[in-house]
Amino acid sequence: MNITEVKEREATYIMPTFGREILLTRGEGSYVWDSEGNRYLDLVAGIAVCSTGHCHPAVVEAIQEQAKTLMHCSNLYYIPHQALLAEKLVTLSGMAKVFFTNSGTEAMEAAIKLARIRTGKHAFIACENGFHGRSCAALACTHKPEIREPFGPLQPSCTFVPYGDAQAIKEAITSDTAAVILEPVQGEAGVIVPPLSYLADVRKICDEAGVLLILDEVQTGMGRTGAWFAYQYAKITPDIITLAKALGSGFPMGAVLAREGLQFEKGEHGSTFAGGPIACAAGCATINVLKDLIADVPRKSLLFAELLKAHNPRVYGLMIGISIGDRCPDIAAYCAKHGVLVNCAAHGNLRLVPPLTISDSEIMEACHVINEAFSSLSVTCKIDEI
Ligand SMILES: *Cc1c(COP(=O)(O)O)cnc(C)c1O
Repeated sequence: MNITEVKEREATYIMPTFGREILLTRGEGSYVWDSEGNRYLDLVAGIAVCSTGHCHPAVVEAIQEQAKTLMHCSNLYYIPHQALLAEKLVTLSGMAKVFFTNSGTEAMEAAIKLARIRTGKHAFIACENGFHGRSCAALACTHKPEIREPFGPLQPSCTFVPYGDAQAIKEAITSDTAAVILEPVQGEAGVIVPPLSYLADVRKICDEAGVLLILDEVQTGMGRTGAWFAYQYAKITPDIITLAKALGSGFPMGAVLAREGLQFEKGEHGSTFAGGPIACAAGCATINVLKDLIADVPRKSLLFAELLKAHNPRVYGLMIGISIGDRCPDIAAYCAKHGVLVNCAAHGNLRLVPPLTISDSEIMEACHVINEAFSSLSVTCKIDEI
């Protein structure tokens, strides 16, 4: 099928929730190809999902092997890889127990249920511009009014406070607050990095108030920032963390991890598909690949920072944000036309979340095109108000 045939069918049969232009047919490493044979250097990477690059041979092999051995059996039976993957995640994170899910939003649902059932409290505090997913409870804690309010009233009750302001969290805590929910670095908001002491300050406030701290590491986790989990830079231990995006290299999966003493008991939560054989095989293979890539993330991060410094980028590991504003889509379109995929997150913030496998020469190639986009279109970055 060519792009016209696909577009026509989609317009007829698919609910029009996404706007899209390019028909992708293949991926390998840092590149994807469209139906016309054009090659793109992919700095979107399935929205921070394809951290091992497209179709990494070790992950492909693990999935193929598992698919012909046992594809699915439900959570009514043991399978070899689920506990193995949980053991790896527990070892890497310092958490105690894992519950697997199929997506980021499901991991947030599980975290919210876990906080409610173990504290007996009902309310949550989350941050302005934070994003936690589209299912109802996760959406209740997602700030953006345009995507949340049409579906209200939503549960749980969630109070939004400015991101990066620990004192605001302290002031919002009530006797019914079950947990504070936040991203260590805000991804969908456009890579917003909080002050250095923020997580440690929030941890202290939560401890003093007896409130749980849930860190949404769906985007920042699995090495994206140069540590397995972004909270490890702050040298704190959250009560609950959520993971998804990069966990299965593109095979859909998520997880909620909790510290000692916080767990679901028998029958309290469940899923037909989650933690299935293929997902867990993909997850184990992904961790094996990522463990050799993480040490190089800070160096690659500096290279991006250096090459893009004219645009005042916010760089945190391999999350890069540039405030552009209304012309962000023009920059993205120019880049795509010149063989580089980038993405506009909220508020016209350009977001780059490349595969962790990206090479130095690919980084140089990508930044060259991005810089050309700014100069050819006479766009200047907005000076950061954040
Ligand atoms: C993407 C994302 C989610 C939602 O994940 P889905 O798999 O799309 O449900 C939640 N939290 C953060 C921080 C994310 O980036």
